[in-house]
Amino acid sequence: MKTCNTLMRGIVISMDENRQVFMDGYVAINDGKVESVGAFSECEYESDNNLGGSGFVILPGLVNVHSHLIQGCMRGMAEGTTFEERLFGFYYPMTGACDEERSYDAAMPSIMDLALRGVTTTADDHFTHLHKKSIDGVLAAVDDSGIRCRMARLTINDKDAVPEGFGETLDAGIAETERIKSKWENEKISVTASTIGITYCEPDQLIELWKWTDENNRQFDIHAPAVFDQKYLAARRGWEGGSFEWLDHVGILGPNVIAAHAQNLRPGEEKLIADAGASIALVPDMEQVLGLVNFNARPFLDSNITCGIGLDGAVVAYGHNMWTAMRGYLTAQRMGDQHRLMMSETDIKWTGEEVLYGSAEQALELATIDGAKALMMDDKIGSIETGKEADLVLIDRTEESHLTPMGSLIASLVYGNGPNQNAIEAVMVHGEVIVKRGQHQTLDHRKIVERSDQVQEILLDETNARQYLRKRSRFNWID
Ligand SMILES: [Zn+2]
Repeated sequence: MKTCNTLMRGIVISMDENRQVFMDGYVAINDGKVESVGAFSECEYESDNNLGGSGFVILPGLVNVHSHLIQGCMRGMAEGTTFEERLFGFYYPMTGACDEERSYDAAMPSIMDLALRGVTTTADDHFTHLHKKSIDGVLAAVDDSGIRCRMARLTINDKDAVPEGFGETLDAGIAETERIKSKWENEKISVTASTIGITYCEPDQLIELWKWTDENNRQFDIHAPAVFDQKYLAARRGWEGGSFEWLDHVGILGPNVIAAHAQNLRPGEEKLIADAGASIALVPDMEQVLGLVNFNARPFLDSNITCGIGLDGAVVAYGHNMWTAMRGYLTAQRMGDQHRLMMSETDIKWTGEEVLYGSAEQALELATIDGAKALMMDDKIGSIETGKEADLVLIDRTEESHLTPMGSLIASLVYGNGPNQNAIEAVMVHGEVIVKRGQHQTLDHRKIVERSDQVQEILLDETNARQYLRKRSRFNWID
């Protein structure tokens, strides 16, 4: 027998190329990596550190491909507000008032949400740099949590889209990106440059930002096109086409582009994306919460475009739960499909022959291996395979009433909003257990909640944003 640092046993849902599921499987971990995986009957490893066993499920760590972690300080405030109220009333002011320390406390609840529910890699897009070290606070929180992060530092400076003081020159944005890159990059954290969306940065500077990412072999992460994109593209850039047509027109729609939301495409745009080899960050949960679009991921998936699932910021992503987003992807897609069918010219008849589009398995692919591909990290993460990082989630289904019986395990996980917190036996990153039995191993949950509450109070007072809290509430809130 060979020895390994950790030996896990359970149902192994590998997400490898052949989608092997070992009903009685093992994962042998050495030096932070998967050394061997397969059927337990063929296991040649033993260890002093054994995890799992009968009744356990082993999955690759989940991958969240779109987020604004700092928005943890204003979770849920979207309720009862308009887009402009949100953006100029509290998104910009509240995050803008976050220095390094406040940013740490604001981001930590979002990061904890991710870690506690099995996300081992997240993307982040940070765009308020009034305090240059705000982003350092977010990265410090990520670093303390132990999860991986691909951070994009977004330079913004369009005078119509960006409040005074928030704009940066291209040189300042690049210089700061270089600073945080050399300060924070390590085994788990990577840094890139970008902007929020096409109309948030002067066009020539946006192209320069993309060039920087291309030269540095990094991703270019951009919102495109939320519903508002086409409106603002016409008004501010005189461009009547779509976001992807614009990116293609200026020559920057390349394989390193990951575009968030990407709904309401114009005809032919999916072909531009497929030809470029760009990726899409679907954000189905937020699209549903805001009810902005008639969600459709099929143009991408049918064209073999790489897609992952993202949660966006806590303003609208609430519990930051990737399992909810997986379910959200399926329900949004199916409601969208039905709507498109109803609006079409065809005579609608239910025949009983229909098979619904998508599946829980497909949603899990989007949240693991496909998300890893979308972040250009699939050589390291996204599946349980020899040589890959030991980023794993170990679920104890023996105390879960909604994960039995066994017959539809993945469907029960996805449609049932995932395991309960205390059924997460372990969340492992690079072979290290960061969450055990639903508890983070080094961070104090109570303290995080306390400090997050305090930061929100301070920010509401300082920025005059309290008027948006519980805006249009019909309840009587008695202090
Ligand atoms: Zn976003």
